[in-house]
Amino acid sequence: MNSFFMPSRVIFGQGCIQENTRLIRKLGRKPLIVTGKSSAKKSGALDDIIAALEELNQEYVIFDKIVENPTLDSVAEGRAICKNNRCDYVIAIGGGSPIDAAKAIAVLGKNNIRLRDIFDPNFYDVALPIIAVPTTSGTGTEATPYSVITDVERSKKAGFGSPAIFPNISFCDPTYTCSMPAKVTRDTGIDALSHLLEGLYSNKREKLTYPLIYKGVRLVIDNLKTAIKEPNNLKARAAMMQAALYGGMVISHSSTTLQHSIGYPVTTVFGVSHGLSNGIFMKAMMELYYPHIKRELDDLFENIKMTKLEFYAWLDDFKLDAPEMEMTEEFISKRVKEVMGSRNMALNPFEVSQKQIEQLYRDLIK
Ligand code: NAP
Ligand code: ZN
Repeated sequence: MNSFFMPSRVIFGQGCIQENTRLIRKLGRKPLIVTGKSSAKKSGALDDIIAALEELNQEYVIFDKIVENPTLDSVAEGRAICKNNRCDYVIAIGGGSPIDAAKAIAVLGKNNIRLRDIFDPNFYDVALPIIAVPTTSGTGTEATPYSVITDVERSKKAGFGSPAIFPNISFCDPTYTCSMPAKVTRDTGIDALSHLLEGLYSNKREKLTYPLIYKGVRLVIDNLKTAIKEPNNLKARAAMMQAALYGGMVISHSSTTLQHSIGYPVTTVFGVSHGLSNGIFMKAMMELYYPHIKRELDDLFENIKMTKLEFYAWLDDFKLDAPEMEMTEEFISKRVKEVMGSRNMALNPFEVSQKQIEQLYRDLIK
């Protein structure tokens, strides 16, 4: 049996906010605009949203304190601002961090639950309406029912998923991604690639998404290097935004696997970006999984007209090495257990052992 479910309305293309302002009105009266420190302004997206809200005569409140790998504390602050100002929908502008934080705020803005209850979707079925305006091409959160939040107190990064947090509308305008620095472009592009591959790795893989995977991987291969070298190349930026969107649609079905959970501690402990924390392990993960999903991966390479070795050579050009980090025995003992306990371990194409995870860390992080 096959099934495809992605209820977000995606409006894709240059000028999509200006041309679809009327759609915003249907979501509410007063939005909380959730952003990071500067990307919403630098990208031009905040100006476009404010112009649209002024056209609709809507008041708004801006909460611009979301940091990379958004924290539970910032989500709590956002909830307070949302409630105190009686905001009835959220507009998230930025990369995955502000969009994921806004999803969590939307849950807390609608439900009278404790802060950490967001991690258990049994506590809620609804959220405030959400508009997502991505300024990176990576996470695909504009088309997923997921949010990833870091609990600093417990030193843990964890995701949650609920159909309630699929954005109602995602405005995907590739011009907003032109201001991304080269490293952010690279790391987010690798994250998108990771999602696409995980659509095949996961034992929840969904055949209906395979055309998106093949097309998405090809788009990344053909455009990521250009987007890095020529930041204002709109064709390459649009192609990357499309690939990231496909990646989101794909993991909405397959979820992610060890390829993602192995990177989370590298982000929380060493501060490595989300995309790079996937990239460090990308080749090793494919090698580990390959014998168990040979048919799926052979079909992928046939469809993208590339061999596995050519793909590895292409990947090598990005130099996705771990920055200098001191791997300690404490890291190994604590974090391997954490990874083993993560929900997406159940989705690997075979039962990966504690020893194999330990080996991956020892081999790839010096
Ligand atoms: P991000 O953490 O949102 O942003 C990374 C950096 O890039 C920030 O410094 C940000 O600046 C900057 N930036 C973003 N857009 C820019 C632009 N157009 N111009 C200039 N600078 C820009 O990066 P991300 O990789 O998109 O998101 C990562 C987060 O998403 C992680 O927490 C990850 O776990 C999560 N994630 C979620 C899903 C999901 O389905 N929900 C899937 C995968 C990953 P500002 O600080 O000023 O914004
Ligand atoms: Zn990711």
